[in-house]
This record gives sequence, structure tokens and C-alpha cells, in this order.
Amino acid sequence: MTTALPSAQHRTLEPDGLATSELAIVGMHCASCVLRVQRSLDADPAVASAAVNLATERAYVTFDPTAISVDALCQAVAAAGYSAQELPEHSAVPDEPVDRDGWRWRAMVSWPLALSALMIALLAPESSVSGWIVLLLGIAVQIVGGWPFLRSSIRLLRHRAVNMDTLVTLGTLAALAVSAVEAIALGGRHLHLGGSGAFAARLHGAMAPLIIAVLATGRAIEARARARATRALHSLVALRPPTARLVVGTREGDGADRAVPPESVPVGARIRVLPGETIPLDGEVVDGWSAVDESMLTGEPIAVEHGPGSLVTGGTRNGSGILVVEVRAIASESVLARLQHLVDDAMSQKPPLQRVADRVSAVFVPVVLLVSAATFLGWWVVASNLGTAVLSAIAVLLVACPCAMGLAAPVAMMVGCGRASALGILIRNGDALERLADVDMVAFDKTGTLTMGIATVAAVTPATGHSTDAVLDVAAAVEADIEHPIARAICAAHRTSQRAAGVAVLPGVGVTGRVGDRSVRVVRAQEGELPAELERAAREFRSRGETVVAVVVNDRPVGVLAVSTPLRQEASDAIGRLHEFGIRTAILSGDSEEAVSSIARQLSIDTACGGLDPEQKLSALQALRSGSAGMVMVGDGVNDAPALAAADVGCAIGSGSEAALSTSDITLVGSDLQCVPAAIGIASATYAVTLENFGWAMGYNLSALPLAAAGLLDPLVAAVAMGLSSLLVVANSLRLTRLGRDGPASVRPPRLSRGRRALAVAVALPVVLFAATTVGAQLVSPAKGQSLLPTLPDIVEVTLPTGGQAEMYLDPGSPGPNQFHLILPSAPSFAPRVTASHDGGSPEQLRQFSVGPGHYVDLVTITPGTWRFSVTTTIHHRTVTFDMSRTVA
Ligand code: ADP
Ligand code: MG
Repeated sequence: MTTALPSAQHRTLEPDGLATSELAIVGMHCASCVLRVQRSLDADPAVASAAVNLATERAYVTFDPTAISVDALCQAVAAAGYSAQELPEHSAVPDEPVDRDGWRWRAMVSWPLALSALMIALLAPESSVSGWIVLLLGIAVQIVGGWPFLRSSIRLLRHRAVNMDTLVTLGTLAALAVSAVEAIALGGRHLHLGGSGAFAARLHGAMAPLIIAVLATGRAIEARARARATRALHSLVALRPPTARLVVGTREGDGADRAVPPESVPVGARIRVLPGETIPLDGEVVDGWSAVDESMLTGEPIAVEHGPGSLVTGGTRNGSGILVVEVRAIASESVLARLQHLVDDAMSQKPPLQRVADRVSAVFVPVVLLVSAATFLGWWVVASNLGTAVLSAIAVLLVACPCAMGLAAPVAMMVGCGRASALGILIRNGDALERLADVDMVAFDKTGTLTMGIATVAAVTPATGHSTDAVLDVAAAVEADIEHPIARAICAAHRTSQRAAGVAVLPGVGVTGRVGDRSVRVVRAQEGELPAELERAAREFRSRGETVVAVVVNDRPVGVLAVSTPLRQEASDAIGRLHEFGIRTAILSGDSEEAVSSIARQLSIDTACGGLDPEQKLSALQALRSGSAGMVMVGDGVNDAPALAAADVGCAIGSGSEAALSTSDITLVGSDLQCVPAAIGIASATYAVTLENFGWAMGYNLSALPLAAAGLLDPLVAAVAMGLSSLLVVANSLRLTRLGRDGPASVRPPRLSRGRRALAVAVALPVVLFAATTVGAQLVSPAKGQSLLPTLPDIVEVTLPTGGQAEMYLDPGSPGPNQFHLILPSAPSFAPRVTASHDGGSPEQLRQFSVGPGHYVDLVTITPGTWRFSVTTTIHHRTVTFDMSRTVA
């Protein structure tokens, strides 16, 4: 395979003396972190450009190495409150961002502590002891479970900065303050915030640890999902096995091979690949035959037979034979490493949508702080409701989620590009992906693109006085070093010992050179330029759909060759799928009109233009492009390069020329045309998911903040919503991992609308959803007096003549069947006698069931009115009689 891909070095020296480094950044959580890191790098005049990616936790910095060192760059990042480390050159497998802050164990420790605090707050009698236990549990969870929040916000505070973590820290500390007030100032009695009832008051006493537990769980799940998304991206380099079997000594099969890291194997060394093993490096087979599964590079689930002389690629899997391979490229320059570098490059550029998101979220955290302060003051000063003031201000801090906005585009891009590269489609940058999502026309080159890279000479007609061999001999001499399918066909048909001098390629026309003292041209045969006998042959070849090439010696045509270029097997299906997607197709070719239109008919391609030289190709492309919303050009040759560069998206066939590869936005590694519709499908799916994510993040924050400020969101609900919102963005992006599981032909474009309307829908969706769930939650929320649990009943207390208190309550305390509860200060020796009378009616004896020491229960049917309960019992061996009454409405 020919490649013009950049080298795999992570620090590359560019022609203008600038160097590019890749830094791993630790400590970024949201888009405002990204912006701070970005600014800390941009601040130095020696930095030409910096791109920071939240999803991969990387920064790509281009700088003047004579003016600033990488260490100084890392220090600049550290000064902003984050840590940076340069990734080693040639680092083949970038480490995945995992759960570095240990959110998993933090969540696991936080939950039992938080639930104990909740149980105590809900069930234990209000006392100073229970108040203090809840407070201490809250502090423990705040420190153990919420340490990363604290650490990051303290670190930023020192640099007078705020981020997402500042919001969480402030919110949870305020919640903790509620517990502290209860324990320290109120002797364990519960604060009734917002007049929301006894149950909610008990709940809010323990909300701080619960919020931390919820948030830690959210972060733990998010970290896992992000690691999964990163794996999708880095699946390429992970293909390389950790060791290679280096063959030492000359006798093969003597078992004398040594396991070494593939990175240490030099060019020219021989490695052995056993059945079922993954081939570690690129090279040429010198011994053995085997079917190699190349699907990991091409997405095509067909094994390819390889034997001596054929080239194998690192990362593909050996079938049942044993292969000895002579290494042709070191690990860092292998196809795999180059492809990975392309993918990494794509990640280093921000798609336009993300740039908008970053700008929005840069001002986001300060705005939320202001909204929270205003909410507090508004409820306190204007509405004189301190309880709601505290709860709503906390809810505002906790519900805002800039994370979702920061992750919206990069995670989707990461998964989308990862899927594409797994199918052998390399998308060079986010811009190209966005443009690709919008195309409605695809133009193909013919030779080498729609037709196979391999052509054959089908017939030769020499002019009178010349022999077939002589014609082929001069043609092969000129074509010997040319990479064009026609050139390869001529050289394969005839071996010559001659070599032409001064060979020049005429793109889209042919080749010229000098053989001995003769000037030779092997060129496209123009109609009407040939002598009659050759013209007749040419016409016949053309009618068979073959490409006709004229061999001209000293300006005199000496023969014509018919080159048959078979169509790629999958061409027809690929075109069919494009049409299914509603995309128009065209051929732009240098070959004759006749050959081109015959192929267009065969493949039912909409528009056919033949006989084009590179400039004409370009202008034909521009004409087509003016009538379309976005256009892809697919090509392989040198003559396609200008068109590839001019199209909205240039797509090069992997087996094509270097010029084509280096001017294109997309490379089809496996030269599989099915990858063209697949790439469009993946791009539109990725773009649709990005829009959804972005819209969700916007809509979520737009709707959640006002609701929280209005006092309609409980802080606990706010914390759950915030955790869910960034999770949703990551989970939504992970849907893309399913694209094209069964090869490129299985990619379906999403049935989703695009453009502004889609964005509007995406924003509106969470707004509606959120409003609906808030209304729903309000109806059942325990915090709003609409208890999920039965409301705690009114307790009637009576002071006994023997000292101590008896308590009685009716559960539920409304008309209908009720439990009558009687609680005595100590257990009597006999069950108490209880009679109940209604509005002065005759007393009725109740049967008592003991449910605990001194605790008795009976069932009574209560009707509205005043009920009097007379109790006779013994306490400390004295008989005591007392009455209690309850009025039921
Ligand atoms: P396409 O645009 O269909 O890919 P090319 O532009 O590569 O085709 O070639 C256009 C025409 O130019 C071919 O049909 C052939 O006649 C001629 N041609 C191009 N390259 C060569 C070559 N190396 N030897 C002979 N003829 C060539
Ligand atoms: Mg071509």
C-alpha cells in the first residue's frame, strides 16, 4: 500500500521550525477547565497554537522549541491548577483516561454512610446525639467521598478561578451547613426549610452526604463510559500484539525465535507468525502460505491469501498457516502507527460546533454562581423565606452541568471516528466529519477508483510494419516505474530489459520518455488522431468497454493497446446504497467519453463526464458542486488531486497515489467503495448525535436553572439530574459504537433531521421533558409536603401523675380504618384497658396488641368528629387512668 501519511512521532518538527507536542492533562472536568488550560498555553507568545480535548484529556501544542521548552509548557498548565505531562514520542498505546479519582470506591464508601445518616435523620428521635451523628457522617462523606471536588476547587481558588467542582463544593457545603445548624444550634431538632413538612425536614438534615454519594456514583459511571468511548477510538493501535517472534539464526523452524517487543525490531529482520496470531509488523512474506484476516483494517470480513512475495500489514490476524515475514517498516512507521496518528490528529482539532459550546460554557460557571446568589437573596429578602432561599440556592449550584456541554461534541467525535477507523475509514478532522454529514452528491474517478487497481492488457494491435512485442517493449520501458493501474498492466503483460530516460507523467493523459534515441509516448488515444487501421481496432476495443492506449514513437502511432479494467466487485452495491441514501452520483474521468458512459450505464450513475484532463476535471467538479449542498470527490490518481482538494470532502482510495492521499480529508484504507456510503452514514450519525448532545446540554441547563431558582427543584433531585445529564451525553454517544459492526455495508444513516431545526428540537426536548418531570416530581416529592411515605401523624401527649409522658396517635389520622397507637413511658404489668367514644357516644372497648415494650396498637374505624380514648393501666404498680382526645376532620 502506498501511504503519504505523516509519521507517528508525537513530537514532529514542522518545516517552519515549530514543534508539536502532545500533553496528557489531568484534572479537567468541564469546558471551563478546557478553556483555562487552553489560555494558560496560549498565553506564551512562543506557542503558535494549542488545542485541548476534554474527552481524550489531551492538549496538542505547536510551539517554537527554541523559545520555550515542553517543561515550561507543563509548568504553565500547572500554574493554572492542572497537571500536564508530555506523552513519550512513539508512544504506541496512549493510556486511556480511567477513573483516576477513584470515584468507584468513593461512591461505594459514601452510600452506606449516607444511607445511615438518612436512616438516623428519618427514624431516630430528634436529639442532640442523633444530630451530631448525622453531621459527623456528613463530614466524613464530604471528605472521603467528595475529596476530588474539594481538592480541585481549593486548587482553583488559589488561582482565583472557578469551575464545575466549585459549584458542587459550594452546594454540598451549604447542604452540610444545614446539618451543622441542626446539630450545633438546634440540639438535633430538624430545620423546617421551605415549610415542606416534617418528613422533608428530616430528609434535608441528611442531604449533604446523599448528594455526594449521588454525584460520586455519576462520576464513576461517567468515567467507565468515557473509558469505553476512548477504547473505541484507540482500537487501532491496540491491535498490535505486545511481542514479536524474532527469527534468529539461519535455519528456519528450529524454534530459535526470540520474543521481543515489536518496537525493537529493525527493518530487514525476520519474524515468525504462528497460526491465529496477530501479525505484529508490516513486511513481506518470505516463507509460508496463509489466509490472513484483514478485517480489522478494512472492515471486510474476507480472509486474503498471502504467500511468498506478498505484503502483510501489522494488526491483521494470521489464519492457519505459519508465515515468516521480513520486516519492511519499524513499528512507529508502520501502517498501524500512521493510521493511529491520523486519528489522533483528527482529535486534535475542534469541530465548529464544539467551539460554540466552549464559548458558551466559558461564562457558564460564573453565571451560575451569580444566579445562585440572586436566588438566595430573592427568596430571603424579597419573599422572606429563608428555607426556600437555602434550598433553591443549593439546587441552582447542583443542577447546572457544564460537563454535558464540554463533552457533547468530543465524545461523539471520538466514538464516530473510532468506528470509522475500525472500518478502515480515516477521517482527518472534525470539520471534514461535519461537512461529510451534509453531502448530497458523490463524484467518482473511474480508473483505479470505480475500477480495480489491477488492470490487464486484453489485446494489442500493432501498426503495419511493427510487431506486438516491439510495441509492448517500448511501452513497458516507459511505464516501468509508474504507479498507474494502466502502467502496472503493461509491465505485467511484458517484461523488458530496457529503461526509458526522462520519463514524465502527463496526468490524465499518459506518459512520455526516451527509449534509446526514440521519443516514446504512451497516451490516451484521442479519436481521429490514429491512422485508419488503428482507429478501427480502437473503436472495437471501446465498444467492448476497454480503455484504449496509443503507443507513439517519434510522433508516429505504432500500435494501440486495449486495457481492460474490471469494475470493483462492490462498486454497484456502493452506488446503489448512495442512491438509497438520496445522494446523487457522477463519474469524472480522463478516459474516453464512450468508456465512461458505458460504465455509468452499468452502474446507473447519474452523471458521466469523460475525456477530462486534471484542469477540466476540476472545472467539471466545480460545475457539479454549484448545484449541490455538499459534495464528495472519490479518487486515486495524481490527476485527481486538484479535484480532491477542491471538493467539500476529498476521499482517497488507500491503494492510490501519494498526491491523492495527501490532499484528501478521508482515506479508505482497504480501498473498499462500500466505505464511501459507510463514511457518510457514520458522519451523519455522529453529527446527529453531536447535535442531540449539544441540544440536550443547552436545553437541560436552560430549563433546569430557572426551575431550581424558582424553588421547584429539591437539591437531591438537582444532584441526580446533574449526574444523569452528563451521563446521558456519554451514553448517547456510545450508541455510535454499534455502527457498522458487520462491515461497512451494514452502516445505516440515522433517520434524523439535520440543521437548525434539528438543533431546535434537540434543545426543546429536554426543556419539555424536564418541565414535565418537574411537575410530576412536584406531585410526589416528599420535599414538597406531598409525602411519598405516609405523613407523620399528630401525636397527643399526656403528662402522667406518676411522672413521664404517654403518647398516642392515629395512623393515618383521617376518616376510615386507622391504627390506634399508645406508647407508655414504661411497660405495665398488664395490658392497658382502652375505651374509645365518639362525640359523647357510648364507649367501646379496644383490644390491645403489644408491638414493643409499652407500645400498643389496635385497629379502629374513625368517623369525623372528636374521639375520646380513656386508658386505665398500671405504672410502677399504681393504677393510672387518663383521657386523650383527637378531633378528626
Ligand atoms: P481516471 O480519470 O478515469 O482515473 P486517468 O486520469 O488516470 O483516468 O487516466 C485517463 C486516461 O489517460 C486513461 O484512460 C489512459 O488512456 C491515459 N493514461 C493515464 N495514465 C496512463 C499511463 N500511465 N499509461 C498510459 N495511459 C495512461
Ligand atoms: Mg484514477
